[in-house]
Amino acid sequence: MLLSFAVYSAVLLVLVGAGMSAFVRRNATERAEYHVIEQAELLAANLLPAELTERDFAARVDARREAELDEFFARSVLTDEVIKAQLFSASGELIYNTADGPTPDLRAEASTIEEVLEGEPEMEMTYVDHAAGRRDVRAIEGWVPVMLVRGGEPVGALEIYYDYAPVAADIRSIVTPLLVILGAGFALLYAALLPLLIRLSRRLRHESTRNEHQARHDLLTGLANRRKFIEELGPALVAMKETGTSGAVLVMDLDRFKEINDTLGHHQGDAVLREVAARLHQRLRGDDLIARLGGDEFAVLLRHARDVTVVRRIAADIHRVLEKPFVIGEMSLVVDASVGVALAPMHGTDADILIQRADMAMYAAKSSRTGFEIYDEELDRSSTERLTLAGDLRRAVSNDELVVHYQPKASFAGEVVGVEALVRWQHPTLGLVPPDRFIPLAEHSGLIRPLTVTVLRTALDQLRQWDHLGDALTVAVNLSAQHLLDTELPAQIRQMLRDADVDARRLELEITETSLMVNPKRAVAVLRELGEIGVRIAVDDFGTGYSSLQYLKQLPVNVLKIDRSFVGAMTESEHDALIVRSTIDLSRNLGLEVVAEGVETTEIWDALAELGCDVAQGYLLAKPMPAEEFGEWIERPRRQTRSLVTLHR
Ligand code: C2E
Ligand code: CA
Ligand code: CA
Repeated sequence: MLLSFAVYSAVLLVLVGAGMSAFVRRNATERAEYHVIEQAELLAANLLPAELTERDFAARVDARREAELDEFFARSVLTDEVIKAQLFSASGELIYNTADGPTPDLRAEASTIEEVLEGEPEMEMTYVDHAAGRRDVRAIEGWVPVMLVRGGEPVGALEIYYDYAPVAADIRSIVTPLLVILGAGFALLYAALLPLLIRLSRRLRHESTRNEHQARHDLLTGLANRRKFIEELGPALVAMKETGTSGAVLVMDLDRFKEINDTLGHHQGDAVLREVAARLHQRLRGDDLIARLGGDEFAVLLRHARDVTVVRRIAADIHRVLEKPFVIGEMSLVVDASVGVALAPMHGTDADILIQRADMAMYAAKSSRTGFEIYDEELDRSSTERLTLAGDLRRAVSNDELVVHYQPKASFAGEVVGVEALVRWQHPTLGLVPPDRFIPLAEHSGLIRPLTVTVLRTALDQLRQWDHLGDALTVAVNLSAQHLLDTELPAQIRQMLRDADVDARRLELEITETSLMVNPKRAVAVLRELGEIGVRIAVDDFGTGYSSLQYLKQLPVNVLKIDRSFVGAMTESEHDALIVRSTIDLSRNLGLEVVAEGVETTEIWDALAELGCDVAQGYLLAKPMPAEEFGEWIERPRRQTRSLVTLHR
């Protein structure tokens, strides 16, 4: 920019300078020309009539007369300025010329002579030729008529050559200072503008590098963006091929990010994303490229990865660091991530394919809840299936393809106190699809509300049909985090209870601890309203989140369901046993009912009974089953536990 400014201003300077000097030259030359004519007229009127005769104009003067005229002209006409003079006859013939230099032409041009004789003086810039060896001299020539008698007819013409050198000197004396002033003016202006220009051009350069940076980086985390990731991945793959080394692409997606964003707001969501970036930075090496592909999706390029074992270790490490709770403000949030890995060159040498395969592995990790997964060809098949599922789900919800199974819950005295409604998808070609494979899909595609409504209706209707089993039997229905934002949900549930003619106390709504934990005032409001209706609220998967006791106290919660991972391990792990025991104690202090999920053995049953747990649910009692089957199951007397499980009527 500075350069172009310099060039433009220099061109402008030259143009203005040239224009100015042309103007001055033109002006000075014109003045000089008039001066020449004046001079010539003065000569023709005052000196020539006395010296010349009519005879002189008849023809070229002879040698004697020429000598006389030479003397006259040298004395009276030629000066420092008038350097040459010539006389022409009326017919244009040269009759005399001053001695200096060779005579150019012997005749004047007819048109010139004619005009001059008519009283029109002529002038022109010309050169006076000199004898060899001397430079030609620039001159102004002026023509005037010669009249021997005042007021008489012209007898011929006088032509004088006026030296241009003094005129040129004159012009220079004006133009040079003008140009100096002009140049100085420009220089001053330039000096004044220069700092400004330098600053401006620096800012522009800075701006453009920043734009360049922004186009390739994520503003929020400062990590590379998808574009930069792909741009660097291509050449990295080529380099691996050339050097025979191998690398890997890791793609990770946060499992509960949407929940946090929806319930806590973007502000907290952003804080989580920044923290994820920071943790990835801590764990990875300088030459590994970390990018945020968009949303809650991140990617890492490992440029050097000796073998699968190394990559596996890194993937596990990354999963571990993301598993740790994120402390945002006063909350401790568990986000968890699923990591998908594709190896280069083993799984592809093309950037897009590699990312796509890592993505596929990531989805596999998400649905199998294994944390991380390495791509294999088998995944290609199941990911197609996942896509098909997503497309089919909408139809499934409206087409009665959803079926509800029921799993009983019993007190430790052996009485069946209720059932949990668990949805399945009776897929036309895939058979019975478990909820883990389509609930997340429904949550992400806006189908979870119609799905929940379907399950609620079905479960309440079913409860009516089990009226003969007594009115103490409850049904529990699972809610997703999104429902806690739905302020219309309480009214909708009130209506459904009325439609099915079921007492509100017989409906239990299960919300996961994590969705509770991330909910703001709005969720509390929804829960309070539900509490007012009279439905019972259970906190599901308790122990997997990090909700505070203080917080739980403020909520209208009736039941805590200890997560099956703790219950299942309580007889082997001291730690898990401790969690189960403290949860039971906690529930008692808060006046809550406590349910143990995943009770699979009599050993666990006994241990829970010992600790004072209220209710058990698990395969030991029964797996979830279709409604008709439950009807038969409940009528059958059995001795699966120490105490006889019977129906309390
Ligand atoms: P959940 O709410 O924790 O449901 C209990 C899950 O544990 C059920 O899996 C059940 O089959 C399983 N289970 C019960 N007893 C045992 C046991 O003794 N051992 C073991 N290993 N597992 C046991 P299911 O039916 O596959 O449901 C999985 C999850 O899907 C549920 O977990 C719940 O989060 C979700 N889900 C199911 N139905 C619905 C629904 O209608 N709406 C929503 N939003 N989520 C649902
Ligand atoms: Ca549940
Ligand atoms: Ca559960």
